[in-house]
Amino acid sequence: MIFTSRSRFETFLQCPRRGYWNYLHGGRGVTLAGSNIALSTGSAVHEGLAAMFRELKAKPNIKALPHATALGIASALTSMFKIGDYQREEGEEHSYQEYVGAEQKALVEGLLWCFAYQVAPDWIERYNIVDVEREERRKISNNPEIWLEGKIDLVLEEKSTGDLYVVSFKTSSSLDSRLVDSYRYDIQGVSESWLLEQRIAETNQRLMENSLKYVEDDIIPIEVHRAAVAYNEAILRAIKPQKVAGVIMCVLLKNRRYERVKGSGKWETLSPLIKGYRKLVGSDIEYAHSWQYSNSANFSGKSILGKGWEPFDIWDSYEGGIKEWVAAIAAGEIQPEERVLAQQIWQQTYYRNDRQMGDWLDQHQAMEEEFVPFFNGDFEFSSLEAKLNNKFWQNRKACMYPRKCDYLAICDSAQVEADPIGSGLYEWREPHHEGELASLVQIEGSHG
Ligand code: SF4
Repeated sequence: MIFTSRSRFETFLQCPRRGYWNYLHGGRGVTLAGSNIALSTGSAVHEGLAAMFRELKAKPNIKALPHATALGIASALTSMFKIGDYQREEGEEHSYQEYVGAEQKALVEGLLWCFAYQVAPDWIERYNIVDVEREERRKISNNPEIWLEGKIDLVLEEKSTGDLYVVSFKTSSSLDSRLVDSYRYDIQGVSESWLLEQRIAETNQRLMENSLKYVEDDIIPIEVHRAAVAYNEAILRAIKPQKVAGVIMCVLLKNRRYERVKGSGKWETLSPLIKGYRKLVGSDIEYAHSWQYSNSANFSGKSILGKGWEPFDIWDSYEGGIKEWVAAIAAGEIQPEERVLAQQIWQQTYYRNDRQMGDWLDQHQAMEEEFVPFFNGDFEFSSLEAKLNNKFWQNRKACMYPRKCDYLAICDSAQVEADPIGSGLYEWREPHHEGELASLVQIEGSHG
């Protein structure tokens, strides 16, 4: 039995060699040792949003939002990476590890409060929450048995139409028009819509099979007849539209990490949600979230804060911390003309068509079927290098762009390639989906 996923398919498309190391090597795949800040922060935001929406599903009310957000933040922060256990940038000093841990936790909190102000109220008003991070699994091939697994962040139902939407949350260090446009064609929305549609079809069919067929029978007592009719009507109301109406992409902007003071070894994330500026004016302190601000009096339309202003970290130097800082921005108390909260979250609804879905499914299935002889050992190669060169080609364009590939150390060194785990640079991949995890536990258990 083979378990596959959307990210596995995408990884092989980016670079077949990367796909091999990430998913196939040793029957499991390897990943870089140590936590990755971008991934840890992104996962924590996902965890926080899931906890927030689970609470809102139980209490679908705007009044429940502050408590749901606080629950989400608590859940996100407990899931975050251990301080000191992350992959650093070149030149980044180890001594700042605690600072980075505190900063990233503040960032997660800031993004979740920002979402609570900027997006959640509208969604609570417009949609019913149907599913939160529900695991889906569907067979896409019988021989061999191949299962596609996925976890949809959120499924929403529009109250006014009953239409279903798949929500995909992303965290990104930057947002540009090319990235935004790429979501129109991304595979995640297509594969998740397909998974959801399969479940809806199955559930609808089961509901119809369970409707009562004898309601028209004259010999049943009138009370039984009425109850049966009411039951069948309830079943009809439970039938969902089989097509997913759209995919809502929602991106939370983390902002880039960089060395604010060159050569200091201290890398920071300059997000207005966690870093601010302050200035002592008389006995009062003035605050700002952005160094550059709008000024129509200037030719450029912009001004900078200038003399007397100093940067500071919100999480340890602002009364009330991140929660109160974001609340103050939302209330328009700090540089209101900049609309900075709106700039930290972007959302757009995309509509998929059946052709996109059918093409992706055929291609995904074909790719997995091609790997089967490699799993079965049907081919014999004189060396690992010969095997890799035969099937898992290297897309060198992807080595450094859009970011440095995690497997560069393997591709650059025959020694690391021969034993990635032994090199200390890599560890075995932890599966993210339940089916694959269970099958690995079974395989490893049978070996032990
Ligand atoms: S380093 Fe380059 S060739 Fe090697 S796996 Fe990564 S992208 Fe592919």
